[in-house]
Amino acid sequence: MQARIYKSTGNWYIAKTDSGETFNARIKGIFKIDGITSTNPVAVGDIVKIEVENEAEHSAIITGIEERNNYIARTSPRNKNQHHIIASNIHQCLLLATLKEPKTSQGFIDRCLVSAESFHIPSIIVFNKADVYGQKEWAVFENLKIIYESIGYPVYSMSIKNNEGIDEIKNLFNNKITLFYGHSGVGKSTFINFLIPQLALQTKKVSGWSGKGMHTTTFAEMHDLPFNGKIIDTPGLREFAITNVDRSELSHYFIEMKPFLQKCRFNNCLHLEEPGCEVKKAVEEKKIFLERYISYLNILDSITKNYY
Ligand code: GDP
Ligand code: ZN
Repeated sequence: MQARIYKSTGNWYIAKTDSGETFNARIKGIFKIDGITSTNPVAVGDIVKIEVENEAEHSAIITGIEERNNYIARTSPRNKNQHHIIASNIHQCLLLATLKEPKTSQGFIDRCLVSAESFHIPSIIVFNKADVYGQKEWAVFENLKIIYESIGYPVYSMSIKNNEGIDEIKNLFNNKITLFYGHSGVGKSTFINFLIPQLALQTKKVSGWSGKGMHTTTFAEMHDLPFNGKIIDTPGLREFAITNVDRSELSHYFIEMKPFLQKCRFNNCLHLEEPGCEVKKAVEEKKIFLERYISYLNILDSITKNYY
């Protein structure tokens, strides 16, 4: 039977079949997937083959895994050569940001976008807490909207508190698997509870019982939306680390730089002080936003790994 992984808790996985039946599944024996050295062979979002072990107990064995369209991973803290796959088969990332209480920096946004590009996942940027924005914040918003939409990233504003701008964003989730992330305090939990009221009730129960708030776990988890679509929550993942991007590759993930890369005089151009650099020329000619180029320089600086 085919099923999708909704949750992974180390040794056990929650797998859901197309008909909506849920199984506690585990892997039997050694399970190897070619091509990646991963600490977890099966991840949230994976499409797997399962064999029912005990129908009454809803237990099953995972016997196979379909090739992933994409995945996001982080480097294992213990071993830099090993990856931990956080989630797979993602259609889009929703980067939740705010312009006040607290303010998301543009550097943070760019790091997230680069990381998502490096995993081949499109991004949408949503600024929450529009209800607290004053004139200044709206001016910043309009500027960011111009910058990011001209590059190719849709930008929205919403207020969960006032239920404003949400319907348009909800439409984006139709028939898609959307990964939610953002730094602490942007309203991610509030948004997920708003979208899936049933989940909010569950959380309330759990919090009441344990005395702790929601999302004490650091595991990714997939949820079905009450309308068509699935979201992946990533508690504990406040930012994508930029893993496995070397300095020479970075400009490929600033997607507006792509048209210029082939034209630089040196094919290993890092777009710093090299003569005949078309990226720098494009920045001077305002074809590439200066803010983005500054982010590029900052990220480049933070990548110590250099293959030259
Ligand atoms: P998370 O850390 O991203 O999960 O953030 P939470 O969902 O815990 O929200 C952080 C705080 O922001 C809470 O106090 C929420 O009530 C508040 N918040 C969430 N959405 C909005 C909004 O649209 N407007 C305002 N003013 N506050 C919000
Ligand atoms: Zn260059």
